[in-house]
Amino acid sequence: MIVVMKAHAPEDEIAEVIRKIEELGFRPHLSRGEVRTIIGCVGDERGKPRLQSLEVLPGVESVVPILQPFKLASREVKPANTIVRVGDLEVGGERLCIMAGPCSVESEEQIMATAAAVREAGATVLRGGAFKPRTSPYAFQGLEEEGLRLLAKARAATGLKIVTEVVKPEDVDLVAEYADILQIGARNNQNFALLKRAGEVKRPVLFKRGMATTIREYLQAAEYILAEGNYAVILCERGIRTFETATRFTLDLNAVPVLKDLTHLPVLVDPSHGTGHWKYVTAMARGAIACGADGLIVEVHPKPEEAMSDGVQSLKPAVFKQLMAEIKPFAAAAGRSL
Ligand code: PEP
Ligand code: MN
Repeated sequence: MIVVMKAHAPEDEIAEVIRKIEELGFRPHLSRGEVRTIIGCVGDERGKPRLQSLEVLPGVESVVPILQPFKLASREVKPANTIVRVGDLEVGGERLCIMAGPCSVESEEQIMATAAAVREAGATVLRGGAFKPRTSPYAFQGLEEEGLRLLAKARAATGLKIVTEVVKPEDVDLVAEYADILQIGARNNQNFALLKRAGEVKRPVLFKRGMATTIREYLQAAEYILAEGNYAVILCERGIRTFETATRFTLDLNAVPVLKDLTHLPVLVDPSHGTGHWKYVTAMARGAIACGADGLIVEVHPKPEEAMSDGVQSLKPAVFKQLMAEIKPFAAAAGRSL
């Protein structure tokens, strides 16, 4: 249920409503608008009717049901866009956020060279997997903690923020020690234990859509993170499985305006996994910005031909620089800066 407060309701009335919500066994989630405060009540669906009684409290305008199954992620509970703050960086604000780097952290030389190059081209976040969720158990699984240390070194050298994937609940604390943003990947959309654990730590999460996950399922999966009290969730469309085989996945750019309609969370696009080939990455990056994405995550490798994972879809630094130049007019047309 949502408790809609009257315009400019005073703080003591808001506090009293919160107290009552808690007394009824629900968790209140506050959303402060310019004029009105909305309080989402989340908890056992069966106790819902009892919340209706809050309508008699001073300052309450109405108590209405949240129609979407993804409660806290929905625009019903929070009409205004969420800006996720990563230190001094904002994701979901006027400035687009560009994350770039290799699929996997492979060596000090590789990550330092990539970090310097993507920073020079205008990226503000360095990506790189230290724990890799690979389709084959025999494929390179990542450098693990050594990879995290190398990312921290690249951050110290460049000032870039770090986004890196966590694949199991037991590793969340370790990865959160190093990462500015935890990445949860396409293969873990139904790893509810991992989603809950990521909800418990106070780190922003880049949560990528599963390759066979519908938009509504995706938002309910994101809800697992929000429901634990972590509202700093960044969504990312990265391509879905279709009958098409000419590309690795089908980048579902429809998801951008649909997600923007249904949720207040920022939405990035990953044209690297979405296409699976470096040749198509820049075109889809332009498209992503044009249709309203809040930024991109792009794979860049100094020597894609030697990459231990996803070399075919990785851009050389010079091509990434060109991508940054080519998205500029699209950013301007969308009313965003880079
Ligand atoms: C990645 O970012 O390298 C990755 C594994 O992404 P996804 O989870 O989208 O496949
Ligand atoms: Mn990859």
